[in-house]
Amino acid sequence: MTDAFDPETLAFYQGNAADYAAWSKHRHLRLNQFLALLPAGAAILELGCGAGADSAHMLAQGFDVRPTDGSPQMAAQAALKLGRPVETLLFHQLDAEALYEGVWANACLLHVPRDQLGDVLARVRRALKPGGLFYASYKAGDGEGRDKLARYYNYPSEDWLRERYAEAGTWSSLAIEANRDVGYDNEAVTILHVTAQKAN
Ligand code: SAM
Repeated sequence: MTDAFDPETLAFYQGNAADYAAWSKHRHLRLNQFLALLPAGAAILELGCGAGADSAHMLAQGFDVRPTDGSPQMAAQAALKLGRPVETLLFHQLDAEALYEGVWANACLLHVPRDQLGDVLARVRRALKPGGLFYASYKAGDGEGRDKLARYYNYPSEDWLRERYAEAGTWSSLAIEANRDVGYDNEAVTILHVTAQKAN
């Protein structure tokens, strides 16, 4: 696969935006852990914000949030929730340089084609200020595939992810935690939670 995004996956979110928004639940534990490491009012970019629940939480805590999603329909759902416009931004269109103290990417970079992930991670790293923090989560596995809803996943192993992050540049720390969860497709999965800090 050479496209910088997966059209079938985006079509799924375009066609199911309202239903996905209704399903989305607040899981603030990891988000609060992430926010606790940032200065008050820090500038945060959210990638693949979906229905906007995490951006709503960050905004309510006083952070300066830029919510974005690659699907115009999902962005519209998030705009409804947040009461303000939400940008349509595909990961590979991210072009910011040293603007953010934090980048939050929950359950979205798992849709990036395997051969494109290094480039997207490098873009995220470039968008961070020195010392900035980056969280992303992935469904674990040992090679790309689609779920029963036809969504593409890169299904990484921990070692493969570490290689992709290293390919993107230097991080002063990189921690990976795993837990079990159930996705929108009702399947139990192992989630890899990756928190990386850009070197100062
Ligand atoms: N982060 C939200 C959450 O935790 O509920 C949404 C997660 S949902 C599983 C994945 C999101 O990634 C969808 O909203 C989808 O539109 C977005 N997405 C998929 N591919 C994308 C791409 N190439 N660029 C930007 N967003 C993308």
